[in-house]
Amino acid sequence: MCPIKGHFMTQKIWLDGNLVDSKDAKITVFDHGLLYGDGVFEGIRVYSGRVFELDAHITRLYESAKAIRLVISMSQADLARAVRETVEANSVREGYIRLVVTRGVGTLGLNPFVCEKSSIFIIAGSIQLYPEELYEKGMKIISATTVRNHPLAIPPQVKSLNYLNNILAKIEALDSNVPEAVMYNHEGYVAEATGDNVFIVKKGVIHTPPDEAGALGGITRGIVIKLAQQENLQVVEKNLTRFDLYVADEFFLTGTAAEVIGIVEIDGRIIGDGKPGPVTSLLRRRFFEYAHGKEK
Ligand code: PMP
Repeated sequence: MCPIKGHFMTQKIWLDGNLVDSKDAKITVFDHGLLYGDGVFEGIRVYSGRVFELDAHITRLYESAKAIRLVISMSQADLARAVRETVEANSVREGYIRLVVTRGVGTLGLNPFVCEKSSIFIIAGSIQLYPEELYEKGMKIISATTVRNHPLAIPPQVKSLNYLNNILAKIEALDSNVPEAVMYNHEGYVAEATGDNVFIVKKGVIHTPPDEAGALGGITRGIVIKLAQQENLQVVEKNLTRFDLYVADEFFLTGTAAEVIGIVEIDGRIIGDGKPGPVTSLLRRRFFEYAHGKEK
């Protein structure tokens, strides 16, 4: 989902309490994170040397863990400290962190309770998800046929290590030579993109699906809603259909890796005049300023 470029040989990985060289950062084949995708994770940005929205990411991680009955073997405060320590150890000023908690070492059976202790690792590197040109010109995407997980299956609000649902939609996008796809829920309403939340602008009003539509509670999404409201823009959370996307005046995605990116075409339908619109551009700018601590 997010290509982390590390510092290769010099990169230090935080692994279960120790900072180790990346070549020594290994976990066992009996870890249920690997055997079953049994675990949770966060992707977090570092802007101007500061870990962005760390408390919100830590809260979401512990809520994801609670939902799958995974006990994280350290306190939220200690884990936040470990994240900062990893960033400092790698001298990351503009970058990306991957924080992963797995169920830990168990047997080959499904039973998660035989795993005595969760395993935790933190990678701090750099990232550029999309080239700058794509932000200027806007992105073309498709609608995926793969339906987002039903809320009574693995709840989409859980950021679990099992991303196969989204990966199948991503494959559909890549097969169509586009980088992203919109996923719909079991009722046919827009849920989210494979790694981002969805927004449209129609007649000056911003619309975004509620989390209940099957989206991860995006941290970028929350900030963008706040920034839009500060600009006196109206934001309405409501169910969106494929038709709503097709006839939107503007369309953009938000996410930790992508930040704010304009969508200019979906399923062959051109959005607006085929360029990222004014609200998208304004919110992208405001997000950059907010992230780098240069708010108005
Ligand atoms: N939905 C999914 C499925 C994601 O993986 C992500 C990225 N973590 C998002 C939405 C956006 O969330 P955030 O803004 O917290 O990165």
